Amino acid sequence: MHRRGLRNLIQAGARRRPHDASHGDRQPVGHPKTRHAHHCTPTAARTRAGHSGERATASYTGRMTNTGRFAPSPTGDFHLGNLRTAILAWAWARTTGRRFVLRIEDIDRERAGSAQRQLEDLEAIGVDWDGEPLIQTARADAHEEALASLAARGLIFECYCTRRDIREAASAPHVPPGHYPGTCLALSESERDAKRASLAALGRAPALRLAAPSPEWTVCDELHGSYTGPVDHFVVRRADGVPAYNLAAVVDDAYQGVDQVVRGFDLLSQAPAQAQLAHLLGAPEPTYAHVPLALAPSGARLAKRDGAVTLADLRGLGWSTGDVVAFIGSSLGVPGARCASDIADALGISGLRSLSTKPWVVTPPSA
Ligand code: GLU
Repeated sequence: MHRRGLRNLIQAGARRRPHDASHGDRQPVGHPKTRHAHHCTPTAARTRAGHSGERATASYTGRMTNTGRFAPSPTGDFHLGNLRTAILAWAWARTTGRRFVLRIEDIDRERAGSAQRQLEDLEAIGVDWDGEPLIQTARADAHEEALASLAARGLIFECYCTRRDIREAASAPHVPPGHYPGTCLALSESERDAKRASLAALGRAPALRLAAPSPEWTVCDELHGSYTGPVDHFVVRRADGVPAYNLAAVVDDAYQGVDQVVRGFDLLSQAPAQAQLAHLLGAPEPTYAHVPLALAPSGARLAKRDGAVTLADLRGLGWSTGDVVAFIGSSLGVPGARCASDIADALGISGLRSLSTKPWVVTPPSA
């Protein structure tokens, strides 16, 4: 496909009609504590122990639900694992009669031209979307509004710690690995004033963290069952003033009406924090499906350095787009697929729900 402006491409993707829905720097987490796939209790029926019970008036949330999504960070070209996750997210949404939306998560790092190439790749493999992709940086006001709503209820506190402070304090035995040890949670106003002043003298500002009312939360995952994980006082606005991924993703999922989150297994560990935050913001907690990651034969996560792993690389070896989809399809037990809908049709909802949770080990093709 010829290069087009991002805006044109966005509109082109949005113009296409939804597929017929009638056919049927994060750390990977360890094994989920429980695995009772498909036996999750619907959110509304679950009871919560230990949370504040408060709900925001969610003026910044959208009204629509019944929506799945794909939310890539525009940091480079998709590799085979990203393409497989996109197909699965799309298949899950379409197979369950949902809308499917995109979000370009550009609040962190962005590589020039990457978002456009990602959209082109999705279009090429037959993943379409409803409406225009949401550009996350355009949502700064909504992110601030959510922070203000949490702050008004005493659910936010300033954190003055450096990474090193956290690393040192977090080695205490009662703190789960990688979790915030609570250093700045209960400081007096005069301590805060002093710490704010010493940061300001260094030209720095505090980060904001969520005073998460509940130290753990349970989410419903189509592949991993009812999954309970710890929730620490995670960062919601970084020290540089940029909203943190967890905050922005939750606020934007709510705005886009997302009630089904299908994404890589590396984010399962974030789901309890995100679901608790959604709850605090008065937004619906989505159902999740954390699908297996693609790994290189070394066992490391698949990456560009592993060889021909992007659509462009593989085309350079003479593969057609259909050949790439067929390669992905065969990893899912679907032979002969040429576009995303072939995979969705062949799997159906029962095939999606019974996907293996084992990583996909990819030997990058050499011809
Ligand atoms: N933007 C994140 C990524 O590309 C995914 C976020 C999400 O799916 O919640 O890894």
